[in-house]
Amino acid sequence: MKLYAMICGHMRARQKIFLPDSESDVFAESPIPVFLITHPQGNVLFDTGPHPDAFKDAASRWGGLAKAFKPIGDKNCCVLAQLEKIGFGSEKIKYVVNSHLHFDHAGGNQFFSKSTFLVSKKELECAKTPENEGKGYFRADWEHPLTYRKIDGEMDLFDDGKLRIMPMPGHTPGHQILAVRLEAEGTVVLSGDGAAFKEHYYDFVAPRNNMDSKQAIQSIKDLHSMVKKEKAFLIHGHDPSQWKEIKIAPGYYD
Ligand SMILES: [Zn+2]
Repeated sequence: MKLYAMICGHMRARQKIFLPDSESDVFAESPIPVFLITHPQGNVLFDTGPHPDAFKDAASRWGGLAKAFKPIGDKNCCVLAQLEKIGFGSEKIKYVVNSHLHFDHAGGNQFFSKSTFLVSKKELECAKTPENEGKGYFRADWEHPLTYRKIDGEMDLFDDGKLRIMPMPGHTPGHQILAVRLEAEGTVVLSGDGAAFKEHYYDFVAPRNNMDSKQAIQSIKDLHSMVKKEKAFLIHGHDPSQWKEIKIAPGYYD
């Protein structure tokens, strides 16, 4: 089993959106990651990145949010282009796990019509709530004729402990993370936006873009216990400094 990390472009935003103590004029250029895991029983994608049209005309996809989050990249940042580089077409993806349904995590969902999507029940409810449209959620990202399997709580995807989907609410009500147990590397935890920056995790800081900050901090505490217990390697969702050290595809973790 291999774990590939890929970057579907970057987003430039005021750092204080993520780290409230930052000065207003400090900007962060955050990677937008997706991951592919090649399990013997099927390939699994974790998140689908932004829709590639965002790099041509951000406002057409993200509305007013495009002012706060400026996409940096081009059409090669599309999840399909990233997968193609390592020889995987969308038809080879059995499952897609969305950490949550925000624009930078579910923008490529429509390209995986043959896959089964594993999304938290709460997350789908949240995305469907009309008041949330435009606040990170866009129907154009997730509302397509796709197979969504709603999951409730934890799920051991292939019943072998190698891929565990776990709820990590706070950023959104249905946010979930993926724990990947690799042969050599041990457990790697893909935090999504549950601990997007190192500081969220190490300093117990809640970013401004969390729907429930109290819950987010509790989730980070739970994550600490899990990471400690399993001596896991934690990959943060959008941390510019950590991602300089991450092996990017065609490199991989195994
Ligand atoms: Zn995000």
